[in-house]
Amino acid sequence: MVKGNDHGVISVGLVDIDGVEDGRIRIVTHVHSDHTVGLSKSTNISEKIVATPLTLEWLPVLGHKLPRHKLLPLDYGEEVRVGDLKITFYESVHIPGTAQVMIEFPDGITLAYTSDFKKPGEGTPILSPDVLVIDAVYGRPNYVREFDDIIDTILADAVRELLATGPVYLYGYHGKIQEVMEVLRREGVDAPFILPYKQYQLARIAERHGHRFGDYVLQGTDEAEDIIRDGWFIYFAHVNSKRRLNGVMGNHLILSGWEFSRPYKRIGRNKWLVAFSDHADFTGLLRYVEESRPKLLLVNLPRSTGGIEFAEYVRKKFGIEALLLP
Ligand SMILES: [Zn+2]
Repeated sequence: MVKGNDHGVISVGLVDIDGVEDGRIRIVTHVHSDHTVGLSKSTNISEKIVATPLTLEWLPVLGHKLPRHKLLPLDYGEEVRVGDLKITFYESVHIPGTAQVMIEFPDGITLAYTSDFKKPGEGTPILSPDVLVIDAVYGRPNYVREFDDIIDTILADAVRELLATGPVYLYGYHGKIQEVMEVLRREGVDAPFILPYKQYQLARIAERHGHRFGDYVLQGTDEAEDIIRDGWFIYFAHVNSKRRLNGVMGNHLILSGWEFSRPYKRIGRNKWLVAFSDHADFTGLLRYVEESRPKLLLVNLPRSTGGIEFAEYVRKKFGIEALLLP
């Protein structure tokens, strides 16, 4: 019915999700690189690449070459048929464009893959399939962030406070940056955003798909230079540009999913680590599984940390059969 492999594919009949086997259809749940594994091979061997419209537009910006005629955009709640399978996407709070995948077999049995998510039951709908496939990103009981529910406000307050002393440089991965841009606006932060070219392109596309970022400008333009002279702005950069911007005056905030003890901590004279994750912690994973109540849970090991412990925990705590994939 379903098989996996060591790079995390969920392979169901003719459909390969977030990895490659020999599927006629490749589904990409979102643009993070651990979910686009083997996409160029899929592009060669598959008839269709299925993803949300936003994800299909983001992929080329991140360097993926996808022939137009193979693209099949699928919106949340829409259904597509592949052979005798029915496939539906559901929303997810992660990075813009992320989808959960539900597959219905001809006999009515259902299988769902959560992909990456946070805020289960509050923005990320909890699906109730017969078979649930989950990535236990934080699969151990000590991977808990007690402050997860209020981290948006904590981050916004920290940014506001630091802006009073100088510009703020925020570092994250693709998609997480756009997620944080939205969070800050929602939390009332109104300083202009300055973005390097790629982040700017991603933001423009996301805006066309309904995301709202307020004022943001492209680095290097006259407008951006004026703002930089004023010294009141937030600059967003990919984590890999940390070193390049190391000596730049201002406050540097690195977003990290692997800090559990405190919402933020100082790691240098003008450097902070903020425990802002785009994944549910251990408690969040458990909540999803408990409310989903699948007949069978499959823990996708290549994208899990502590996946074996997580499966065991679920078996004992909820009495739900839990196995490992692959
Ligand atoms: Zn992700």
